[in-house]
Amino acid sequence: MGSFTLMVVTAHPDDEALGLGGTLARYAAEGCDVYVVAATRGEAGQIFEPDAATPITLPRVREQELRCACQTYGIHPPIFLDYPDGLLPLVHQGQAVGKLVRLIRRLRPQVVITFGPDGIYGHFDHIAVHWWTITAVDLAADPDWFADEPGEERDPHQVDKLYYRVVAEEQLEMMAQNGRPAAVMRDGVPFRFVGWKQEQITTVIDVSDYVEAKLQGIRCHLTQIGRQSPFFTAPEMVTLAPWFREENFVLARSTVGWPEGVEDDLLAGLRGGRD
Ligand SMILES: [Zn+2]
Repeated sequence: MGSFTLMVVTAHPDDEALGLGGTLARYAAEGCDVYVVAATRGEAGQIFEPDAATPITLPRVREQELRCACQTYGIHPPIFLDYPDGLLPLVHQGQAVGKLVRLIRRLRPQVVITFGPDGIYGHFDHIAVHWWTITAVDLAADPDWFADEPGEERDPHQVDKLYYRVVAEEQLEMMAQNGRPAAVMRDGVPFRFVGWKQEQITTVIDVSDYVEAKLQGIRCHLTQIGRQSPFFTAPEMVTLAPWFREENFVLARSTVGWPEGVEDDLLAGLRGGRD
């Protein structure tokens, strides 16, 4: 138990839920140590349930929502980087990378998951987190960087596999509404989701045994989804939908080779000799 460690780096407290929740629950159930790192407490988010938070309480409420979700998935409590929501491209980039290098060296994950360069729908916070994470994965392995840290956090650590969590083109077709492509409204205009082609997706995780944990994790983020969403009003429909039962990833870095076909396991290539 606990022989593998997975670390997920996100921007906002609900970023893990829809695309990753099943995967987190699945690897936790296998006995892996699973951590979610959120760069912000999501205080710039909307409030879909007025009785759940006010603009003043939102960061504290969203922190609790992510704690609730992590508990539901059976993973470690979340780690927050304490940056302001909506401003990640403007914060001190070196400091942010340094925070992640220290975390990688402390937690020593074999697998790191973050956003791809698309940021799912071009969200600047997601794109900033993407660049921080890929930079930190490289520097964490390099003894020349951040060598003056105290204690064990100084020892370099090589992450074996770095993944991007992505949305498949086919999933986007299912998400389209009234013939319009799936998009997120930002400052009054729609930002389209970026779909990845089937041949680009290296890894598909079957989470059909974990849809209940995934659903409950999503429900923890009440301020962001609201009680009128299908996650509350039509849970059976959601959990039976094919798009809900598979989570897609792109393997971006690997020290253990590359899959010939599509992988069905984030730990493929790592398990030999450790189980
Ligand atoms: Zn986000």
